[in-house]
Amino acid sequence: MLTERIEAIWQQLHAMPEPAFCEVKTASFLAQRLRQAGYCVQEQVGMHDGRPATGVVGVLDSGRPGPVAALRSDMDCLMFKQADGSERGIHACGHDAHMAMVLAAAEELAEQGIPCGKVKIIFQPAEEIGKGALCLLEAGVLDDVDYLFGIHLMSSQMAGSGQAIATVRWTACTLLRAVIEGTPAHGSKPHLGVNAIDVGAAIVGAVNALHTDPLLCGNVKTTSFVAGGGSLNSICAKAELGFDLRSTSNAEMEQLRQRVMDVIQGTAAVYGAKAAAEIVGTCPASSFDSTMAAVAREAIVAELGQGGLIDAAATTVGEDFNFYAMYRPQLKTGFIGLGCDLRPGLHDPAMTFVHQDMAHGCRILQKMLLKVLTL
Ligand SMILES: [Zn+2]
Ligand SMILES: [Zn+2]
Repeated sequence: MLTERIEAIWQQLHAMPEPAFCEVKTASFLAQRLRQAGYCVQEQVGMHDGRPATGVVGVLDSGRPGPVAALRSDMDCLMFKQADGSERGIHACGHDAHMAMVLAAAEELAEQGIPCGKVKIIFQPAEEIGKGALCLLEAGVLDDVDYLFGIHLMSSQMAGSGQAIATVRWTACTLLRAVIEGTPAHGSKPHLGVNAIDVGAAIVGAVNALHTDPLLCGNVKTTSFVAGGGSLNSICAKAELGFDLRSTSNAEMEQLRQRVMDVIQGTAAVYGAKAAAEIVGTCPASSFDSTMAAVAREAIVAELGQGGLIDAAATTVGEDFNFYAMYRPQLKTGFIGLGCDLRPGLHDPAMTFVHQDMAHGCRILQKMLLKVLTL
């Protein structure tokens, strides 16, 4: 039974959570299962920090001409600080569930056979740090792919058990860090120094006053402010700030990024401080393909009935899957959001969901793949 197969895979993967680019046991488990199923498998796909990365790619060739249709699952877990200060990996974003659905779909497709073309199964490392998709793109994994589908568990607020979202609209996001360098001075002589805390506070205020088109949901928040900590009678000369930027539009994100950079530089200059700002990570917003949205809708209705279909839903979360369509415009992509009564929410270490819903996600992906192979 599919439900039991997926649950058994999930149990194994859930018990070996590994963070970004450390998915070694996970990768070897997935590679072994794909090989057993008859896939031609490549391990250590991609490069990270000069070393082979943990990507796994499996190809099932029908031997007949046709398109290459691919499924992508992320692989990494999140790390959480424990009460004793140690860190523990937990699959709190459901990537274990995504792997279980994609692997089970891959195995069944191999058992049942595909009519034409090729099926490519892509296990992508390091989604949580936004680097895995880029790493596989550089390795050329997407170069021969015509269709690519992904799936993510959705929180109960977005979709319930027995429901699925045909098109998940992820936002663009940017993480940005700035270092402010002022001038140190004795606390009794502030006029001889440039207080980096004052400059940082002014930047926070100025960034909060940046207004964007409300329809595009652009926003920026200061998410880190580290300064001082030394003697209380010295003028602080260094501050580090972090920012989180979001927008539903890639064009607006580009503008917003520039405006934040300008605010940081301009404000620092007004106070006579130096500022260095760098982009730490970015994720583009989703791009949509109407044909793939229709394929997704049809697969969801066939699996869950009309009542199970949520046509499209937007989330303020980023997803590095969007890099694939951005850098390979020939690619037609689709992204399913699976309702599974997920509570309290993603990235919560106590996250739970209805495991039986994984069988729905798996069958929806299979239906989409089989559909596009014969389009
Ligand atoms: Zn996540
Ligand atoms: Zn995730």
